[in-house]
Amino acid sequence: MSTTDCIFCKIIAGEIPSTRVVETDNVVAFRDISPKAPVHVLVAPRTHVPNVAAAAREIPEVLAEMAVVAQQIADAECDGEYRLIFNTGEKAGQTVFHVHGHVLGGATLGWDPA
Ligand code: IMP
Repeated sequence: MSTTDCIFCKIIAGEIPSTRVVETDNVVAFRDISPKAPVHVLVAPRTHVPNVAAAAREIPEVLAEMAVVAQQIADAECDGEYRLIFNTGEKAGQTVFHVHGHVLGGATLGWDPA
């Protein structure tokens, strides 16, 4: 399922360009347009669901595959040491309501949630 006004659905469909890192039948990973770390890749399902809890309920196998893909990216790009973040809701910084994990690595990461 996709929605016509979702930017990540458009990226996944190839209607908006992106730098893809990994693609499977279920998951697409592409570089964040505004990286917050030397490695900053977004891992998203092809199916449009709004957040990580919805993914756990509706597409649990795909959510598990997203975690495996995140690990593959980190193994390839930052020695398997990384942070995997799912923002949920506007106050948490979610701006795109198509679930995606941020794979962040390539540096010693601080911890400033603000
Ligand atoms: P959120 O704030 O957790 O929803 O994450 C959305 C992420 O998508 C942000 O880190 C943005 O920089 C990123 N982003 C927005 N538009 C694009 C795009 O067109 N290509 C790649 N990344 C994007």
